[in-house]
Amino acid sequence: MDFRFTPEEEAFRKEVQRFINEELLPPGFWGGMEDEFDLEKFEFSKQVARKLGAKRWLAMNWPEEYGGLAASPIQHMIFKEEAAYRGVPGIDMGVGGITWVGPTLLLLGTEEQKKEHLLPLAAGEKWWCTMYSEPGAGSDMAAVMCRAVRQGDEYIVNGQKVWTSAGHIADWGWLLVKTDPDAPKKHHGITLLLVDMKTPGITVRPLINMAGHHFFNEIFFDDVHVPVANLIGEENRGWYHTMIALSFERTAGVMFAAGARRLLEELVRFAKETKIDGQPLGKDPSVRQKLAELAIEVEVGRMLGYRVVWLQTKEAIPGYEGAMIKVFASETLQRMANIGTQIMGLYGQLGLDSKWAPLQGIIADTYMNSVGMLIAAGTSEILRNIIAERGLGLPRGA
Ligand SMILES: Cc1cc2nc3c(=O)[nH]c(=O)nc-3n(C[C@H](O)[C@H](O)[C@H](O)COP(=O)(O)OP(=O)(O)OC[C@H]3O[C@@H](n4cnc5c(N)ncnc54)[C@H](O)[C@@H]3O)c2cc1C
Repeated sequence: MDFRFTPEEEAFRKEVQRFINEELLPPGFWGGMEDEFDLEKFEFSKQVARKLGAKRWLAMNWPEEYGGLAASPIQHMIFKEEAAYRGVPGIDMGVGGITWVGPTLLLLGTEEQKKEHLLPLAAGEKWWCTMYSEPGAGSDMAAVMCRAVRQGDEYIVNGQKVWTSAGHIADWGWLLVKTDPDAPKKHHGITLLLVDMKTPGITVRPLINMAGHHFFNEIFFDDVHVPVANLIGEENRGWYHTMIALSFERTAGVMFAAGARRLLEELVRFAKETKIDGQPLGKDPSVRQKLAELAIEVEVGRMLGYRVVWLQTKEAIPGYEGAMIKVFASETLQRMANIGTQIMGLYGQLGLDSKWAPLQGIIADTYMNSVGMLIAAGTSEILRNIIAERGLGLPRGA
């Protein structure tokens, strides 16, 4: 593995930094976690996505005919890293649009599906949500019950999804359904569909998270008609298609690592500038030890993230390596938020809406949102199981 970036990549990083700082975000902007789809903020997320789409940066690693720049995975990673560092909203076009919907469509989609969906995604025009989870199917995703019955050239969908991030702002949905309840194994008989979220029969009910953000939702399907032309890959092979999408999803860890790096830098600044009994907080041995420990973790997370993207440049599909970075970086972010609240005392509990909150209230916001980050995209326990099985070759757990 070569740890150096090329001069062109370094120059591109500078150009991304300049564009974000000077043309994209207002001075001092630093996005909170999970607030990009709050309805009062979403208009800004849309403006940002359109500007990035116009530069073809959102999906720059896609082929040019589908709205990309045929850029390398490394260059795309540099963009995502810089954007995540500054809390740029909307860079996934909802949840998954750029990270797994587009890449999976490039592999499995029909030409019509690619033409219809990839260009508006890359242009920052159409927003997506992902509907895998149900009340009885989370870690055990093969237990999906949401039913699709084929009638002529349509599927009729009935059932419920839950925790659907961005469901309330999404134009399109990536939906896992049960098409053959009699299949001999439960992960057979599952199918992936694309759904226009404006289709009659779809009801979106908000779930407000504990930080007060409207990030995810419950979605109900009541005789929803979906054209068979919206089938991804083959009917009843949705499980295997979803495994491909999940391998793309877990490459997003580098963004967690970049968000953690920004938070650490701000905490260090806070520790230097804040005085307790006339002494900077950063002189306190316990504060110094904690921040130094976090600095190590942030660097490790960054390297784990780079490794995953480097594997992609070798045309390899990251498996347990994606699980490693997601577990490590999300848990680092949580430890950082915990330490941040300890360092700040009672002020650390003030959120984004308080003018008295240090660091714009990001610490309290991250403290609460980071809990969900250890669950979304596979819980830490499930990801450790993947590392144990696929990385260490241990037998399957009970
Ligand atoms: C912020 C956030 C955003 C989300 N966004 C989406 C989204 O956009 N779309 C979507 O479809 N879903 C989404 N989810 C749902 C998420 O994928 C599920 O919550 C997750 O897969 C866990 O499923 P569950 O909640 O049913 O918990 P369960 O699967 O019931 O797990 C409960 C506990 O048991 C543990 N556990 C379960 N099985 C095992 C095992 N085999 N070995 C060891 N421990 C185990 C888990 O680790 C967990 O601690 C989101 C969740 C969050 C928190």
